[in-house]
Amino acid sequence: TLADQAAVAIERTTLVSDIETARVATERERLRSALLSSLSHDLRTPLVSIMGAASSLITYDEALSPDNRHELAQTIQDEAERLNRFVQNLLDMTRLGSGTLKPRIDWADLGDIVGGAVERAARLTRSHTVKVEIDPEIPLLCVDAVLLGQVFFNLLDNACKYSGPGTAIKVWAKKAHDHISVEVADQGPGIPEADREKVFDMFYRVSQTDSQAAGTGLGLAICRGIVEAHGGSIRAESGLHGAGTAIVIRLPLPAVAQVAPEPEGA
Ligand code: ADP
Repeated sequence: TLADQAAVAIERTTLVSDIETARVATERERLRSALLSSLSHDLRTPLVSIMGAASSLITYDEALSPDNRHELAQTIQDEAERLNRFVQNLLDMTRLGSGTLKPRIDWADLGDIVGGAVERAARLTRSHTVKVEIDPEIPLLCVDAVLLGQVFFNLLDNACKYSGPGTAIKVWAKKAHDHISVEVADQGPGIPEADREKVFDMFYRVSQTDSQAAGTGLGLAICRGIVEAHGGSIRAESGLHGAGTAIVIRLPLPAVAQVAPEPEGA
């Protein structure tokens, strides 16, 4: 009868919504535990810097020159600020339902952003040579420098983690008429073609990657979130000389139009 059919339909709808509720709950739980493991992984490095600098300040106290003392205090401040922003953005990104980052846009120089990230990465590893080539034609960008710095840091961190000691890492940036592309390339094992899109998903790790390298599978997902929040795109390709990995970022250049020089006599 019609009533029976209606009852079955209602039952199905209830079942579907129960499954949906369970799925959302599982997803929330997954995000919560991923956030916790990401925090312990990604926060350790700056925390170690802060603890090291604070300990030097206390241990060497009087023996430190004013310059040394200032440098250590500056390290503590810089790393604490990065931690603060990073946690904030991570929380923003994982906020259920929104999944959006809100970049704090300002004028920034790409060379400074990349340079800062290279410096931070160099504190983690001394066994790679990092070469940076930035097209001098690239104008000031309208971006969130802290977030983009985090992107380059994550990419350099991966390049160091997944490629052998002593190998080269190259960062180069080029300008096209309406966008810039920045590439971070290494000479490691590369990412198999079938995984090149999936590595940007949360929690995805390539199965045969050296298990020595600690990771949560969140680094590239955060990179993608940040790049897309800037209207850009990110993809994985083959790296240096057809081997290794290259992560290529493309950022639009609306900034160029805004800084076009005033017409003469205006
Ligand atoms: P994590 O490094 O924490 O595992 P990511 O999201 O940064 O997470 O990277 C996801 C996966 O992509 C890594 O587990 C690794 O398998 C692969 N990967 C990322 N960068 C590289 C690289 N430069 N070379 C080889 N594999 C990489």
